[in-house]
Amino acid sequence: MKSRIYNRTGLAVVAAKAAYHWRRTLGHAAWAPVSVFDDIRKTGVQIRFVDLTNVDGLYSSTMPPAILLGAHRPVGRQSFTCAHEFAHHLFEHGVRFDKFESCEPATSKLDPDEFVADMFAACLLMPKAAVCRGFRMRGWNPSGPSPTEVYHVSHWLGVSYDALVCQLRLTLNLISVRDYKALSRVTPAEIKLHLSGTKCPGEVLSVDENWVDRPIDCQVNDYIIIPRHLLIDVSRVAEVVARDGFFHCKVIKPGLGRVFSQDNSWGAFIRVSRRGYLGLSEFRHMEEAEDE
Ligand SMILES: [Zn+2]
Repeated sequence: MKSRIYNRTGLAVVAAKAAYHWRRTLGHAAWAPVSVFDDIRKTGVQIRFVDLTNVDGLYSSTMPPAILLGAHRPVGRQSFTCAHEFAHHLFEHGVRFDKFESCEPATSKLDPDEFVADMFAACLLMPKAAVCRGFRMRGWNPSGPSPTEVYHVSHWLGVSYDALVCQLRLTLNLISVRDYKALSRVTPAEIKLHLSGTKCPGEVLSVDENWVDRPIDCQVNDYIIIPRHLLIDVSRVAEVVARDGFFHCKVIKPGLGRVFSQDNSWGAFIRVSRRGYLGLSEFRHMEEAEDE
């Protein structure tokens, strides 16, 4: 049985070093976001979205090793779970079943293996250099962000709003306890209503030239809001309304789109997956067959 008394600082250093090693191995600078499903799949670990109801994810040390993720969880939560399960693989923790109750995992876990996995996931997805860059390149202060700013940067990093709020305070110590509590009181549903003017079942992504270093991954029923000075090629995946200087793109089908600048100096692919997609991660953006 594992000891409930362990050196958290020592384990946190081990987890952080492993995360930075894997960032470098996967070709990512410390200030860049990662596409966690694609990156982990490159290491030979199979990632499959399954109809799990009672757990967020599980790791199986079979051959090939596999990570199973709850298909109906929000995508930011799936990303964190995937990185967490990958840590169980790297540290050879054996088969694991995980259910996450809150966004404060790293400080509350009694099992040292779970603590290491949480710290690894946080450092892989939200290292300080990437978090600070996400705010600063948009002209925002990472030490005093608004809820809407946190929401937008969380999409660029590929994590949930709650996970980034926790990371800003509990791991990176960038915001005060007062700001942490204030940000925690705001729900993503309130932010989405403010941004889109409607109750949106999915996410509301804000995309401009600051979206760099990873594709724009979204799901059917998400909205993407894009400034009108950019060009869009989304006819296969979205319905578009031009309003108040922006394109409001309602994502309606799996597949690929693109947004780019008029001089082609910047561009990003939009990759849409089904909501609740079941299957291997590499096929999640495939277009549905047209009806006969
Ligand atoms: Zn775990």
